Amino acid sequence: MLAYYARLGELRPTLRHEIDGVVYKVDRFDLQRRLGAVSDHPRWAIAHKFPAEQAETVVEAIDIQVGRTGKLTPVAKLRPVTVGGVVVSNATLHNEDEIARKDVRIGDTVVVQRAGDVIPQIVRVVETKAKRGPTFKFPTKCPVCGSHAVREVDEKTGKEDVDRRCTGGLICPAQAVERLRHFVSRNAFDIEGMGEKNIQAFFDDGLIKEPADIFLLSEKHADAILTREGWGEQSAKKLFEAIDARRQIPLDRFINALGIRHVGETTAKLLARHFHSLLAFYEALNSKTAATDLQAIDGVGETVAEAIKDFYDEPRNLAALFRLDSELTVLDVAAPAASGSPVEGKTVVFTGSLEKMTRQEAKARAESLGAKVASSVSKKTDLVIAGPGAGSKRAEAEKLGVEIIDEDGWLTLIGGAG
Ligand SMILES: [Zn+2]
Repeated sequence: MLAYYARLGELRPTLRHEIDGVVYKVDRFDLQRRLGAVSDHPRWAIAHKFPAEQAETVVEAIDIQVGRTGKLTPVAKLRPVTVGGVVVSNATLHNEDEIARKDVRIGDTVVVQRAGDVIPQIVRVVETKAKRGPTFKFPTKCPVCGSHAVREVDEKTGKEDVDRRCTGGLICPAQAVERLRHFVSRNAFDIEGMGEKNIQAFFDDGLIKEPADIFLLSEKHADAILTREGWGEQSAKKLFEAIDARRQIPLDRFINALGIRHVGETTAKLLARHFHSLLAFYEALNSKTAATDLQAIDGVGETVAEAIKDFYDEPRNLAALFRLDSELTVLDVAAPAASGSPVEGKTVVFTGSLEKMTRQEAKARAESLGAKVASSVSKKTDLVIAGPGAGSKRAEAEKLGVEIIDEDGWLTLIGGAG
C-alpha cells in the first residue's frame, strides 16, 4: 500500500483530475461486515492523505473582494507559482486579523500551501534581512462603493467580529442583486413577477441598480423590457401593474425591505409599532442619541441598534432612501386605540419577579393599554414595576428618581381601565 501511495504521489501532477490522497480498503465483503463501522466511518477503510503541497512566492498585491453580503475578504495576488502541479496566483487571507497575525505585507516572500482545498493559503512569511514594505492597512471603506466598512461588536462578548462589512447596503454594486432580491421578496415589497431571474437580468443590463429603479422601470425602460426575449405587451403590463400596486406600503414591510443587517421581519415590526410613521423613525435616527434610544425599545439590543445606525449614517444609503421615498407612500402603522388608561403613552419597565401574571402577560396588557414597555431603565422611563428580586434596574430607577411601584400597585393603577 505504501509503495502504491509513493508511486501515485509521483504520478499526481500528471493526473487529469485533482486528488488529495489514497483510500485503503479491505477487499472482502465478509470481512467488511465483520469489521463494521463506528459512528461516522467504516472500520474497513482508511484515508492516507498526501502532505499539503507548498511553494515559495512573492505577494504582489493584496486585493479586497466584497461578497454578496457585504463582507470584505482580503486576497493576496501572488507571483504565479506552481504548487502541486497547479499554477497558483491568488491566496485567501481570510480577514483583517489573519493578515495582522501573519504580518503579511506587499512584497513579502511567502510560503503558499494547497491542501485538499481549492483555495490556496498563505502559511507564513519567509524571514528576510531585506527591508520590508509597510504593515498592510486594511481599508475602512468598501472598495466597490466607497461606503463605510465596519466590524460589528458582539453585544454579549464585547468582541469585534473578524469580518469587516460594507454598510452601503442600498447602493453597493457588490451587494445589489442580493439586496434587490430581498427587497422584492414576499415579506418585503412582494412584487409579483419580479423573481430572482428578472432581478439578475435587469441588473446585468443596467435597468435597475437600487430599489428606487424598480419604480422607474415603466417610465424609463419600458421599451428595453419589451424587446427582451420572452417579454411582450401583456407580460410587461402585468409587471408594471404589480410594481404600481406596491407604491403604497406599510412601514414594517418598508423597514424590512431595506435589508439592514440584523433587522428582519420581527425587528421591522417592533420598530414600526414603536415609531408608527416613517417620519418619526427618521427623526429618531437623526437624533445624536439614536443608538441608545433604539436600545430602549424592548427587543432591540446593541447589535441591532448599531446596525441600524451604521446603515443610516452612510450618506449613500440616505441618498438612495430619498430616491426611493419619492416613489412611494409609506403607510403609518396605527398606534393602539386610545385606552383612556393612566398608563397610556407612558414608558414602563418590569423588573424582578411577578406573581399574579407572567412577564409576557404583563407586557401584552401594558401595551394593549397604550404603554410602551422598555427593557432597561433610562431618563425616559415613567414607571418601574418592581417585584421581589429586583436588582440593578430598581437601583437605576432610584438613582434617576423614576417612580417605582409593586405588582399590586400596578394592578390597581390599570384596574380602573378594565
Ligand atoms: Zn460597498
